[in-house]
Amino acid sequence: MGNYWIYENHTEGYEVRWKLKSILHEEKTAFQKLAVVDTLEWGKALILDGALQIAEKDEFIYHEMIVHVPIYAHPHPERVLIIGGGDGGTLREVVRHATVKKIDMVEIDERVVKVSQQYFPKVASAFNDPRLNLHIGDGIKYVAETTQEYDLVIVDSSDPVGPAVQLFSRDFYQSIYSILAEDGMVTVQSESPIFFEEAFRSVHKNMGAVFPRVNIYLASIPTYVSGPWTFTIGSKKHNPVKIQGDRTCLSGLKYYNESVHEAAFSLPQFIRSMVG
Ligand code: SAM
Repeated sequence: MGNYWIYENHTEGYEVRWKLKSILHEEKTAFQKLAVVDTLEWGKALILDGALQIAEKDEFIYHEMIVHVPIYAHPHPERVLIIGGGDGGTLREVVRHATVKKIDMVEIDERVVKVSQQYFPKVASAFNDPRLNLHIGDGIKYVAETTQEYDLVIVDSSDPVGPAVQLFSRDFYQSIYSILAEDGMVTVQSESPIFFEEAFRSVHKNMGAVFPRVNIYLASIPTYVSGPWTFTIGSKKHNPVKIQGDRTCLSGLKYYNESVHEAAFSLPQFIRSMVG
């Protein structure tokens, strides 16, 4: 094995590197640079525009937390919309729930789906689920134009660069609000409060301008920079901190459980004061 590393630059003064066993795939799609690498420590990883999106060893944390927290926070999540999430990990977690009857997913870059199916079969494992309608297109346009109504929208976006910039905007959250049922909610990945403070704050501010209730919850995902990673929920009615109804947790999960649900909403003081 050669001495090959990939570098991910987070700020001018901080970058991380992963030692590679090999580069499995590289291409420039119509939207972004896409690569799949095999790393020594984290298994295979999907990289978009130089930013790690998923790594085999810890992807379960992100995907379980972006899905099961809002699903258990909603009393009857039947109609779910996923924006982004082309690797399929979020979809894999949504399809575990028999209560979900219909799933629309809007991913802008079909190549992310195809390459994930080829290299990450355990992540991209649910694209054949009969409840899924996969739309290849821009999530911003979709939410602005659709006439469908949803109980839950999950925004599994890349960082706010390139095609994902508008996925962090107030207009986008306003469009989501208008396609949600009267007790609907939205969950978004809202970046690192330490390394991407501006993006994190702006999600909270923009969502707060639209939704009556906005809550933040946390998980630590080792391959996402370092420290806590945030998710933000905008809810029209229900308090997402509590699991709704008398529901027992799915078995077979590796991260999420009832205690994690409530604990994830406990915010350290520095994060509280960023949004207080
Ligand atoms: N878990 C990942 C993370 O935070 O690093 C993100 C997962 S997923 C790979 C993000 C997806 O969002 C990408 O496949 C990208 O193509 C998609 N995406 C970006 N902008 C989009 C848009 N405007 N509409 C739909 N999908 C979009």
